[in-house]
Amino acid sequence: MSVLRAAWVSGGVRSEACILPFLLVLTTGKMKDNREFVPFSFFLALSDEQKEFQATARKFAREEVIPVAAEYDKTGEYPFPLIKRAWELGLINLHIPESCGGLGLGSFETCLVTEEIAYGCTGVQTAIEANSLGQMPLIIAGNDQQKKKYLGRLTEQPLMCAYCVTEPIAGSDVAGIKTKAEKKGDEYVINGQKMWITNGGKANWYFLLARTSPDPKTPVSKAFTGFIVEADSPGIQIGRKEINMGQRCSDTRGIVFEDVRVPKENVLLAEGAGFKIAMEAFDKTRPPVAAGAVGLSQRALDEATKYALERKTFGKAIVEHQAVSFMLAEMAMKVELARMAYQRAAWEVDVGHKNTYYASIAKAFAGDIANQVAADAVQIFGGNGFNTEYPVEKLMRDAKIYQIYEGTAQIQRIVIAREHVSKFMV
Ligand SMILES: Cc1cc2nc3c(=O)[nH]c(=O)nc-3n(C[C@H](O)[C@H](O)[C@H](O)COP(=O)(O)OP(=O)(O)OC[C@H]3O[C@@H](n4cnc5c(N)ncnc54)[C@H](O)[C@@H]3O)c2cc1C
Repeated sequence: MSVLRAAWVSGGVRSEACILPFLLVLTTGKMKDNREFVPFSFFLALSDEQKEFQATARKFAREEVIPVAAEYDKTGEYPFPLIKRAWELGLINLHIPESCGGLGLGSFETCLVTEEIAYGCTGVQTAIEANSLGQMPLIIAGNDQQKKKYLGRLTEQPLMCAYCVTEPIAGSDVAGIKTKAEKKGDEYVINGQKMWITNGGKANWYFLLARTSPDPKTPVSKAFTGFIVEADSPGIQIGRKEINMGQRCSDTRGIVFEDVRVPKENVLLAEGAGFKIAMEAFDKTRPPVAAGAVGLSQRALDEATKYALERKTFGKAIVEHQAVSFMLAEMAMKVELARMAYQRAAWEVDVGHKNTYYASIAKAFAGDIANQVAADAVQIFGGNGFNTEYPVEKLMRDAKIYQIYEGTAQIQRIVIAREHVSKFMV
């Protein structure tokens, strides 16, 4: 019975009433909206609502993003017109609760949309995804007032936010960050330097992690505090836009905080609770990052397949050379498996399970295969693959970041190993 209920939830229909659906399935083999019931499955046929989101995102990506993606890549210009359009279509900020004016959708729906947008351009997708990352600590730990003020604002206008944790001296080792916040009366005074902040120069507000305990012996779980910081606060200096290998239209910057005053009302949960909040956000944001990597991989596979059908060598289309068709088969296997991995990770978190293990598996696997599949697509294009006139060169450059941000490929393996081994130590 609990399996049935879980499966029902996974289809996007959150119903507490188990008996009626159960009887319906028993008598007809179908569920309420005529989808077939697949027992013990987390990946059911999509609900009508999910199909609608997916179709809207697909249309947006193919008709509005793809035609301009190469130009944004060339100029590095921030794709605000596309972000505004995505906001108008309801394809951004999907996690924001209904009480704050948002859609309150789950990770599963967000992933479906993310994959489609990434198919069009992962620079655009990363700019959009960074909003989810910036919002997630607030969604997890914010009080009603904080949520209404800062999340509500993002539903009223197409505004961006950012997740401000990494520093020049500490990325993977989050506990090594040095930005400090000192309590002075009813305010905290923040000093420090952040690095590699996506949407850094475009955000309206930041989620910021700072050390509040000066004592180096304070446990990590109590030493850091999460703040919401208005981006126009005096003392904030935003650095130049970084020129990156790929996803070049996404805005990545360093930010200096010098005596920035933040009211105590902007502390998330409580002083000392920040590290856990910052890490918990990843359980919800890593599945969409994996979905982004799958969108890129699917695009590389599609482009390579179309090319292989057209390009002729030795008197036949290169797809007829088994070496090429087997490459396409390998690419297809990887894309399908990575998609299943992100769907599992999203499903786990949506039904309320702790999904750290699945989120890291999805992120690590999808990040790795995006790099393999994009490199294989370049190989299938031959010399043309190495050239900017063809789409796959961009895909290969864009893919690399999926093995770096939101926890590197190595850090994911540390998490997976820890979660896996812990099951044997009960
Ligand atoms: C384009 C871009 C966008 C980003 N966006 C954001 C953002 O919005 N917000 C934010 O806070 N950060 C952001 N980051 C930062 C990103 O999360 C970090 O770069 C990443 O976590 C790695 O940290 P690092 O660069 O300091 O590398 P390091 O931590 O110095 O790691 C260097 C290498 O050592 C490996 N390594 C480190 N520790 C271990 C270990 N214990 N075991 C095995 N290998 C290890 C790493 O895997 C890596 O290969 C972004 C980065 C980039 C490039």
